[in-house]
Amino acid sequence: MTWQPGKLGWRLLPGTATALVVGLLFKLSAWYPLEQLSYQALFRLRGPTAWDKRVVVVVIDDASLKALGRFPWSRQRYAQLLKVLTKADASVVAFDMLWSEPSAEDTQLASAMEQHGRVVVAQARDDTGVPLVPTPLLQEAAIAVGHILKHKNLGNLTQQVDLQIPEQAALGIAAVQSYGLVQAPVNLPDLKQPFWINWPGPVEEATSYSFVEVLKGQIPPQAFKDKIVLVGLTAIGFDPLNTPFNSNPATGGVYEHAAVVHNLLRQNPLHRVPDYWLVPILLFGGPGLSFFLSHWRFRLRFGSWLCLSVTWVGLSVLLLWVGYWLPVALPLALFTGTLGTTLLCEQLRMSALLQRQVKHLWQTYTPEVVLDNVRSLQPTLANYLQQPVLVQQASQLAALAEQLGRSQSAQAAIARSLSSGLLAADLDGLVWFCNPVAATLLQIQVGDRLDDHLVPQWLSKAQWQADLQSLKAQQPMSVHELHRGEHWLELKLEPLFYQPLTGETAGQMQPLDGLLLILNDITERRLIEQMKSELVALVSHELRTPLTSIQGALKLLQTGKLGTLPANGQRMLDIAAKNTNRLMRLTNDLLDLERIESGTVSLSQQCCQIAALLEQAAAVMQTLADEQSVVLAVHSVSANVWVDSDRLLQVLINLLSNAIKFSHPGGSIWLNAEFRTEALEHGRTIELKSQGAERSPHLSEVGQHPAPYLLIRVTDEGRGIPADKLEAVFERFQQVEAADAQQKGGTGLGLAICRTIVQQHGGHIWVESESGQGCTFCLTLPSHINHC
Ligand code: ADP
Repeated sequence: MTWQPGKLGWRLLPGTATALVVGLLFKLSAWYPLEQLSYQALFRLRGPTAWDKRVVVVVIDDASLKALGRFPWSRQRYAQLLKVLTKADASVVAFDMLWSEPSAEDTQLASAMEQHGRVVVAQARDDTGVPLVPTPLLQEAAIAVGHILKHKNLGNLTQQVDLQIPEQAALGIAAVQSYGLVQAPVNLPDLKQPFWINWPGPVEEATSYSFVEVLKGQIPPQAFKDKIVLVGLTAIGFDPLNTPFNSNPATGGVYEHAAVVHNLLRQNPLHRVPDYWLVPILLFGGPGLSFFLSHWRFRLRFGSWLCLSVTWVGLSVLLLWVGYWLPVALPLALFTGTLGTTLLCEQLRMSALLQRQVKHLWQTYTPEVVLDNVRSLQPTLANYLQQPVLVQQASQLAALAEQLGRSQSAQAAIARSLSSGLLAADLDGLVWFCNPVAATLLQIQVGDRLDDHLVPQWLSKAQWQADLQSLKAQQPMSVHELHRGEHWLELKLEPLFYQPLTGETAGQMQPLDGLLLILNDITERRLIEQMKSELVALVSHELRTPLTSIQGALKLLQTGKLGTLPANGQRMLDIAAKNTNRLMRLTNDLLDLERIESGTVSLSQQCCQIAALLEQAAAVMQTLADEQSVVLAVHSVSANVWVDSDRLLQVLINLLSNAIKFSHPGGSIWLNAEFRTEALEHGRTIELKSQGAERSPHLSEVGQHPAPYLLIRVTDEGRGIPADKLEAVFERFQQVEAADAQQKGGTGLGLAICRTIVQQHGGHIWVESESGQGCTFCLTLPSHINHC
């Protein structure tokens, strides 16, 4: 099983990865050069602050070298300087220069140092680590020795000072300590901690005097009174020092000690934010930031990144004012990296999603919509294997879109030109397509709700609900025939599936996506049917009168009252009489059927005793049953029903007559009537037969609770009806065997008449049979016709 990050995982992933990389680079000191640049920039943004006036620097500058000769100088010069400074009452004099080699003038210098009393001298180490200490004479004369070793900065800028190395405090510390002996003592920081210089400003703003000018007495003595005087080189090429304010050109190393003394006197060294603070910064700028960025749009993302970066820089400048140094390069790199990886990650996800989607669309719709010739014509598809994946997929998508667009407009054009009304809607009834015919007939347009226009003008609420249920259950749908003005319209609903059936889904019940409504104008069909009925009625009627007289004449001839015919003549007469009778029956049946179907004969319903009706039908058929040696048994509930008794009798007689005709001698026939409420075993059969009916009469409004109904059954033990004919026998002129008409004297119209009569009563009729084992004709009458 492969692990897939969840939604939250995807949001945190880019930031977390960036934070890890940025943290690792920090561990490898990779940010140092950038951090130095930002350190310099921060100081420049903050701007200069005033140097402490208690610090005075006497610089051995280019002018001094020019006036006093090349360096190194005789130590006598320093003795002369000390004399001037002693006279001027300088509190402390600290020399940023090494006097480790003994010299003839050492005695003179030592005596000047002793005379002043608070002279600090410097010591250092050479490249091999050997200490370079002042000559014993000078060391003795000095009040303190301070080291002038540079901290091993990674870059050019001087940021840090080691206040104490194992043997020695720094020159600045020694000077401030000596200063404390004559002036107010100065609090010193923990000498073991790294000391970060808080640069006050450019060295040009510090109080500095040229060595030569001091020697020449050009500087008033007050300038040195009670001051810490630092003496060092600033001439080009000696001991260069880069500060945030003096980096190009560099200044002299003496100002490093001047800045340290300044910071100590002002008690304002720089506080660097400890490394452990990077953890919350990494968490905030990594996963935290990517969580928010992934929620936002591009502009907001970019804006928030910019805002965050500017705020961070602003905050860093503000904090620098109060002596705190925030890292800047790392957080800015972190924010930018997180923005970048968030965009990248999203791009990758989108492209993966797109690829999946295109693959799915291509696999699903290619066989349906992309024609073979289009596939081969498509230039990008032709060299498809040489293309990079995205280009390949873009081509596929374009081919699909083009073909879908074409087929969509072709289908829409076809639908528009149809004479039928066509409308497509989602399952919630929202119309998304309708052709002009449907739009005019239903007064509807795309975006409307179908049921608002259909119910109750076209269908009752119950019919609409029942149709929707059948649609969802994917059952056969009712067809509604409706009269609108001059027109007859046929309205039917069809299920709609947006996904074509694939090999995997074939055979499964697919979830329904929507519905199709089809409206056909059947006025013409109706008119033709009506004309046909009228014609049949006319012909039948015109046949009946001459037939009646032929029948009467033949009967008279058969009686022999008009003379006896020879045997041959008598046989011919019998045949003629039999065929005339058949023709008469056929004419009567046809006339009956057309009358009932055309609605010219309306039912005359009344309250009838069902048991009595059954008895009456049996009594009529008793003689025929006796002739065929068939036993007739009647069993009925005693109840009143609201029916047209003559028509129902006609149905029962027809069913009994068929049962007798097709029974074997000695067989039995049962005529039953009972009330039922439960769903029929052949409920499905009822549904099928209900097509064309306005609604199923045995279902209550929502079609869930069947109402009571009367079930009448005629069962025989005759030859039965084969399964494939069970439905056909109810159609006109349909007989199981071609010889039935001749042998049994039927017309093939009896059952068609029965079905029409039963349906007029709102009931159903069907037959159940196993060939050779008799059959049962069932008919139901709904209880709501029981008004008695
Ligand atoms: P017909 O006038 O021919 O009886 P019907 O419409 O009443 O016309 O019957 C149609 C056909 O159905 C019959 O010709 C016969 O083939 C078949 N049929 C009807 N009732 C039965 C039955 N009880 N047993 C077997 N076949 C039957």
